[in-house]
Amino acid sequence: MFTAAHHLPISALQHLLFCERQCALIHIERLWAENRLTIEGGLLHRKAHDPRRASGDRRKDVRSVRGLELVSNRLGVFGVADVVEFRTLVAEAAPAASSFMMNHGDAAAIEVTPIEYKRGKPKKHDADLVQLCAQALCLEEMLGMAAGGIARGAIFYGRTRRHLDVELDSSLRAKTEAATRRLHDLIGGGVTPLAKREKKCDRCSLLHLCLPDALRPRKTPVMYLREAVRESLAMA
Ligand code: SF4
Repeated sequence: MFTAAHHLPISALQHLLFCERQCALIHIERLWAENRLTIEGGLLHRKAHDPRRASGDRRKDVRSVRGLELVSNRLGVFGVADVVEFRTLVAEAAPAASSFMMNHGDAAAIEVTPIEYKRGKPKKHDADLVQLCAQALCLEEMLGMAAGGIARGAIFYGRTRRHLDVELDSSLRAKTEAATRRLHDLIGGGVTPLAKREKKCDRCSLLHLCLPDALRPRKTPVMYLREAVRESLAMA
């Protein structure tokens, strides 16, 4: 169990799974820089969290809550869910694994579904799925549900404007728990890994702070600086 002082943001799991160095630069060294992708993502989240916006959900049996604060002492993480849907089910129709009974003996059960908003499109890696699953694990703990009580979640991708249904199965849960352990080890260790130049660096908002090219074996820091000066003179 973690105390509040050691809780880490769920969003750091995205950084960790994208690049451990990026995660360390942001959460150990407290560096941050925006690029087009982070600004677009931030705007989408702000809209999704706005409680004044109508949910657009006209189903009578569904209540959508925006910007719900989340925490898990077991995993040592906290965050904010874009949207959480609480759907009332008739008790007999409610599968035990995907719902929880309300405490006061209602004949109804509630199905809980976290929904995350992302600016782009489904990715090849699991970072979005892990972030969604971490939200579900927080909700299960906060609501006193059995592990596996939230069976599904969804991610809405801005570019494709489609919902991706996500099954929160045991393999995704194990991956999410492993990622939170790695996150605590990395941040608790306080050591930023060295840069490794990869294709994904071109999409990284910290590229100009991280300087992965400076550590390329074929290029010494002096060569890198000369090249940077040449480039800036050419641009002037
Ligand atoms: S530039 Fe590349 S190595 Fe550096 S933090 Fe970003 S993704 Fe990681």
